[in-house]
Amino acid sequence: MTDQRAARIARLIKPLRVKPGSKVNLAKDFDPGYKAGYVKKKDASQIMRNGIAMLCDYQARLAAQDRYGVLVCLQALDAGGKDGTIRHVMSGVNPQGVHVTGFKVPSAEELDHDYLWRYARHLPARGDIAIFNRSHYEEVLVVRVHPENLDRQKLPEDAKGDGVWRRRYREINDWERYLTDNGFRLVKMFLNLSEEEQRTRFFKRLDLPEKNWKFSAADVRERQRWDDYQEAFSQMLSATSTPWAPWYVIPADHKWFARLCAAAVLVHTLIDIDPQYPRVSQERHEQLLLVKGELEAQAPEGAPADPFAARQATKAGAAHARASEKAKASPPAT
Ligand code: ATP
Ligand code: MG
Repeated sequence: MTDQRAARIARLIKPLRVKPGSKVNLAKDFDPGYKAGYVKKKDASQIMRNGIAMLCDYQARLAAQDRYGVLVCLQALDAGGKDGTIRHVMSGVNPQGVHVTGFKVPSAEELDHDYLWRYARHLPARGDIAIFNRSHYEEVLVVRVHPENLDRQKLPEDAKGDGVWRRRYREINDWERYLTDNGFRLVKMFLNLSEEEQRTRFFKRLDLPEKNWKFSAADVRERQRWDDYQEAFSQMLSATSTPWAPWYVIPADHKWFARLCAAAVLVHTLIDIDPQYPRVSQERHEQLLLVKGELEAQAPEGAPADPFAARQATKAGAAHARASEKAKASPPAT
């Protein structure tokens, strides 16, 4: 069953993966309206629920094993749906094991350091999932589209110039390789929105009073640089989708499908890590048996020696009885 699910997830996300070394032309290669054959939200809702349940289970194991960490990087254009994706995909997980950091315009303190400094401070610990809502990729996106951001970074003269973006791609790839080699896996997702769907979502923020607070005139100004962003995203995807940290381009025009894909990409990475609950040593196991014996001896008159095992047996018996009732009520079709 689990193997079947893993295969289905792998099939779903394969077309979204940016092949390392390929040259991406975002507009031509990825359709923001793609739905992989699903027609409506409800067609995918059971699969989404399964995905969230799997995520919850894997996260518990990741935390218990305490060996690997996962860093999810979410990039999108404005109104791409990053916040909603995080809210839905992470809805079933233990909040103690997940840390979300949003990256805005850098502060004076952040500008006083190398450009990766502020991101490194929020990397996950082993056992944790960290989510970057915008990430170090802003350093080759907004900073590239608006070069005045680069001026503010106070770089020495010879660290600027023409080769700066190619150098940053290399540095980012090296940094991610270092993290991966040391047990921290990256899950990089770009929510790919169409220009018309972005316009619709801006109208939603203008037309609905409860959404007015989300409207930003700056977002509409950024929209005028649409082509420049498409170019910056295309180059970034081409240069930084690596075998150790590939990019996934998530079709984002249908929010429900984007969330399904985002959950699938994350679960796929966790399946690959395959974290396991730690097993206790033989010596420790024997100690546990001794304690068990002592506790059993403390059972009050009439109480089961192991009340937990007794409760489990009752539950299993009840489930079995329900299943046979159901089978009797609806005999298999011949
Ligand atoms: P929301 O969905 O709530 O609008 P947001 O991620 O867009 O979330 P904002 O506060 O609206 O958050 O915007 C953050 C701004 O910070 C963006 O315009 C982004 O381009 C900018 N930003 C992020 N990183 C950098 C950076 N390294 N240099 C310059 N600007 C940056
Ligand atoms: Mg914004």
